[in-house]
Amino acid sequence: MAFFPHRMGSLEVICGSMFSGKSEELIRRLRLARIAHQRVQVFKPALDTRYGDEELVSHSDFRISARNVRSASEILHVVHDLTDVVGIDEVQFFDDDIVRVATKLANQGKRIVAAGLDQDYRGQPFGPTPRLMAVAEYVTKLLAVCAVCGDPANRSQRLSGGAALVELGASDGYEARCRRHFEPEDDRQLELLAERERALKGPRKAREPLAPSGDLP
Ligand SMILES: [Zn+2]
Repeated sequence: MAFFPHRMGSLEVICGSMFSGKSEELIRRLRLARIAHQRVQVFKPALDTRYGDEELVSHSDFRISARNVRSASEILHVVHDLTDVVGIDEVQFFDDDIVRVATKLANQGKRIVAAGLDQDYRGQPFGPTPRLMAVAEYVTKLLAVCAVCGDPANRSQRLSGGAALVELGASDGYEARCRRHFEPEDDRQLELLAERERALKGPRKAREPLAPSGDLP
């Protein structure tokens, strides 16, 4: 494992599909920091209400206390000057401002450990995770096991419908799949998603014809 020089801040990203053990790995690193008498604060987005408000719990029931925050900037307001290590779980649900916040805290000399999904159920980069990976010193990509063939898996296959990119607390509706067995959403689900994106962006101008027709006889 990497050596972390004292007093130099850093950013670590732990990412992967569902069931890849991201939360376990995050909690493991934070517990080690506590054993080393470092001051640790842990955050998660407030929408994650899977197992109560003040704890971070992995699927295999590892636990550490965590504070729910409604925005990335809220973390800046509640991180103590003396805190050595800042843990952030479910980082994909923050907006891109989390990149600024994590960078600012790392620049202050803190060690930031962020865990989250790197891909959504469509196999697309998820939220701010890719940008965090780009600016991090250390990136750990964890693999799950494909539910179909048992090979290493890095995709989250959704088994039931729904509009949310990943429905929290609905891990029953997902399984890990390898590249070969991952089946992207069917056309209707993609259509619904496109409709929702159009509604968010407002009406679009009609497209210009691809080629001018006036030159032709
Ligand atoms: Zn497979």
